[in-house]
Amino acid sequence: MPLEAESTVNLYDLTREELALLLAGWGFSEYHALRVWHYLYREHVRSIEDMTALRPDLRLRLQRDTAIGAPQETMETSSSDGLTRKYLLRLADREQIETVLMSFKGRATACVSTQVGCAMGCVFCATGRMGFTRHLFAGEIVAQVVHLARLQAEPDKDLRNIVLMGMGEPLHNYEAVMKALAILTDHHGLAMAPKHITVSTVGIVPGIRRLADEGRPYRLAVSLHGATDEERQALVPPARRWPLAELMDACRYYVAVLGRRIFFEWTLIAGENDTAEQAHALGRLLQDMEAHVNLIPLNPIGGYNGQPASFRDAKQFQAILAAYGLPSTVRQRRGIDIAAGCGQLKAEIRQV
Ligand code: SAH
Ligand code: SF4
Repeated sequence: MPLEAESTVNLYDLTREELALLLAGWGFSEYHALRVWHYLYREHVRSIEDMTALRPDLRLRLQRDTAIGAPQETMETSSSDGLTRKYLLRLADREQIETVLMSFKGRATACVSTQVGCAMGCVFCATGRMGFTRHLFAGEIVAQVVHLARLQAEPDKDLRNIVLMGMGEPLHNYEAVMKALAILTDHHGLAMAPKHITVSTVGIVPGIRRLADEGRPYRLAVSLHGATDEERQALVPPARRWPLAELMDACRYYVAVLGRRIFFEWTLIAGENDTAEQAHALGRLLQDMEAHVNLIPLNPIGGYNGQPASFRDAKQFQAILAAYGLPSTVRQRRGIDIAAGCGQLKAEIRQV
């Protein structure tokens, strides 16, 4: 049910502790809060009316003062192989976001948005080209995962991974993202495993340091795309604000503090950053770090003329990285035919 008034509490915006506090203020014990939590995250109910076994006075109070901020699905598209499904979701203020479900060998990954649009402006990214509209609230991030979980036959078994690689820059919306992840990993709810959650950033240096200082248990992916400042700045505008030396310092700090490796994303664009020279530069940059490189052949988007690297060049790139002791994966291209691949997400229909 869409939220009717701005002052209405969206239940998806609350941590379990906050829900318990709200209910305690109304005179209901923690036991009742846990039952509500189960309805939200184990049964994925869409409306408070469906919380049928609650005490009627609690249900009434919830109906009066809160709502379940489930977005409305306005479109579903399925890739030709049926393994990737993209959902266009309409939020309470009628803005739209996209969420993608990727299935592989009986397991599914949710690719979730963190903002409407993105302020970072990477030249090869469809979201970047649409500009920034607003941050998502924690509850709007949570709601995307619940939406997908509800569609799965065996939600708790199937939906195993979350990647914050949909629309937006997660570390530009730090507080809401961290709150959403706390809700999604709560043991009494969806109980997603932190190590199966990947936060992907364009390289916001203070955000990376904050993840380390706060001991956040998630996987970190840093989108690099260029191994010299000049080449990186041509693709990724925030690279002007945070030069590579500063970014690498923050990454090394993260690895040292958390003892966890970092995944580096590299979109391979033919003739642009897929050359042997670039591979050597990347090898030198990362050779003394705990790192894994994900190579993603460019997914085509309107308004940018670059082409994906050929399979041969991707393999050559990989072999050079291996010579520096750097493990890498060439990412499978998924959902290209429905524009659900990395960087292809943008709300196609706005203000429907
Ligand atoms: N803002 C974050 C997360 C969302 S983008 C980030 O930039 O990391 C998720 C990934 O898709 C990033 O690694 C991004 O560089 C990549 N990407 C963007 N556009 C792409 C495109 N057209 N083809 C392939 N990968 C792309
Ligand atoms: Fe934003 Fe990431 Fe796209 Fe860059 S690649 S514009 S940071 S969503």
